[in-house]
Amino acid sequence: MSTTQTINSLIENGNRYANSLTEYSRRKTITVNVGDVPMGSDYPIRVQSMTTIDTLDTLGSVEQTIRMVESGCEYVRITAPSVKEAQNLDNIRKELRVRGYSVPLVADIHFTPNAAELAARLVEKVRINPGNYADKKRFETIDYTEIGYQVELDRIRDKFLPLVNICKEYGTAMRIGTNHGSLSDRILSRYGDTPLGMVESALEFLRICEDENYFNIVLSMKASNTQVMVEAYRLLCKKLAEEGLKPYPLHLGVTEAGEGEDGRIKSAVGIGTLLEDGLGDTVRVSLTEDPEFEAPVAKALIDRYTHRKEKSTTISAYTPNSTLQTQHSFDSPINPFQYFRRHTHEVANFGGHNVPRVIADFSQIEVSAHDDLKPIGHFYLPLPDKWTMNDLGADYIYTANNPAKYMLPMGLKEILDAPAWDKQTDKVNKFPLFTLEQYQTQSYRHDFLNFLSINLSNLDTSVIGQIKADKTLVLVVETDNEHAMPALRRLFFELIAQNISTPGVLVRKYENLPESDFQLFSATDCGGLLIDGFGDGILLKLPDLSEKAELLTKSKSYNSTAFGILQAARTRMSKTEYISCPSCGRTLFDLQETTALIRKRTEHLKGVKIGIMGCIVNGPGEMADADYGYVGVGKDKIALYRGQNVVKKSVHADNAVDELIGIIKEDGVWFEPAASLEAVFE
Ligand code: SF4
Repeated sequence: MSTTQTINSLIENGNRYANSLTEYSRRKTITVNVGDVPMGSDYPIRVQSMTTIDTLDTLGSVEQTIRMVESGCEYVRITAPSVKEAQNLDNIRKELRVRGYSVPLVADIHFTPNAAELAARLVEKVRINPGNYADKKRFETIDYTEIGYQVELDRIRDKFLPLVNICKEYGTAMRIGTNHGSLSDRILSRYGDTPLGMVESALEFLRICEDENYFNIVLSMKASNTQVMVEAYRLLCKKLAEEGLKPYPLHLGVTEAGEGEDGRIKSAVGIGTLLEDGLGDTVRVSLTEDPEFEAPVAKALIDRYTHRKEKSTTISAYTPNSTLQTQHSFDSPINPFQYFRRHTHEVANFGGHNVPRVIADFSQIEVSAHDDLKPIGHFYLPLPDKWTMNDLGADYIYTANNPAKYMLPMGLKEILDAPAWDKQTDKVNKFPLFTLEQYQTQSYRHDFLNFLSINLSNLDTSVIGQIKADKTLVLVVETDNEHAMPALRRLFFELIAQNISTPGVLVRKYENLPESDFQLFSATDCGGLLIDGFGDGILLKLPDLSEKAELLTKSKSYNSTAFGILQAARTRMSKTEYISCPSCGRTLFDLQETTALIRKRTEHLKGVKIGIMGCIVNGPGEMADADYGYVGVGKDKIALYRGQNVVKKSVHADNAVDELIGIIKEDGVWFEPAASLEAVFE
């Protein structure tokens, strides 16, 4: 059966992978015991991270582990690339216990069963990568017969069984952690580079564990591509249930998310989407920063769900008029295992094949000076009296009742509340936003673009008829529900059920949130919908503030967050993308410094993806998605990649960034950076 056929049959058999898609309901799992911090079932969703210090540096590892525990980590993972490091886990663990820290330790294993078998006797949990536990990567495509494939599975069993037996004997937990970038040649040959391949990669090992009555297992399906990662976790849940395997707890993570705002937003889009689905029992956020900065991000993502059920109002799972017949809250009219954008017709530059649009909220800001538009990427040049914009130039501003006091640049349009729009002399270059009541009682309209604010409870039969008949409409979809993502998802389900192809703009507003939480929550709410294929625009409303300067500062970060969410959900590329690993004890160069240097030289290359990986063992596979790669292969030695192919095997670190740029130039992708508009206008 082909991959497409397999996915189609899954859909035909129902889309169930979560308890509910329309209210928060955490997936029930078995309990997994990891030292004295159990995971899954009704236990809290756990926070974890990974050290970056050389595992042979006992005191350094102990001190970093303590900093991580103090920052919120409930499990700490440490790499064990060989038996030497595995042995030293014992010293690290003992010293931690002497200092009063009982945090469970997790040995991270790639390629080395002997290190895993030793570590499983010493620490509370072992993580294996099913892509490389029993296989070396040869980048071969092999045409297996059924018998040939079975021989391979028998070979895996022989290699893996000793570890399973040790884990059973010592009460050690195990994570079978698939990475999109390091699938075995066997899996790639049979299933391709797909979410289904990722799932099967773990199941090959899981079936062996269940045959041996070993169940102390956690599963993960990480990828740098958030769409692939979400699809793989969902498919895993479905396949576990279908095969009658136990509902194992899930470890959530986006690999190589990067650093700073981009890394946080990308993590939230991937991890947050699954938490909204009720999936996930432990979270690791991977940032190219010191590991103690990761736990607070994971904690902020998790804490949002602690009392979610009590705060949410119920969202209807069934609508009598719906052709969906959604009698179950897990029914879905979309394929949750493969990305498809909802079909919409084009209205102006919304919907159809247009990228999702960014609307900046200026409802509290009077647009009176040219500089007022700088925070949203539009810059006025007095000489020669013209406007220019950067890659994060917003497409529209929403000014409510407060029309801009001058003519806006060509690349920026204005949306006004309908009554204010009706009073404008220039009604062509400005567009009205109607409430439902205004839309139904007023006859004035723009000729080709009108916005209608709508929420789920508005969608009765007469409104559905009006929306369908009006080809100038763009819907602005809102909700007051605390559980906003499923509430809006339910609304989009209804649009599909009613055959409405009108584009929809996602709106969110958050009051009294720290900036860091705003980024994570908006990325979760909007990112989850974008990954489901919903959203033709995004409007992040500013919190209520009185000072214009404060509002302008906020509008800059909100605009950047909006573009960041679209990029992280892979729906609109406006920046260079850095797929940089978080570093670990295997790292062969200063990842943070190198990432900053590469970013400085290349951040004008919009849409180009650059992988920056600390080591050769794991790196090239992990950056499967990148256009170019920079990978540590030895002390001060770097390999440079074009896609998956190495083009320079061993370049000295001093020249490696220049050589990388040379490769980009050879491909004709390079152009010289213009002076930063912001720097010019400061
Ligand atoms: S790619 Fe980075 S995080 Fe992954 S094993 Fe290598 S150095 Fe460690």
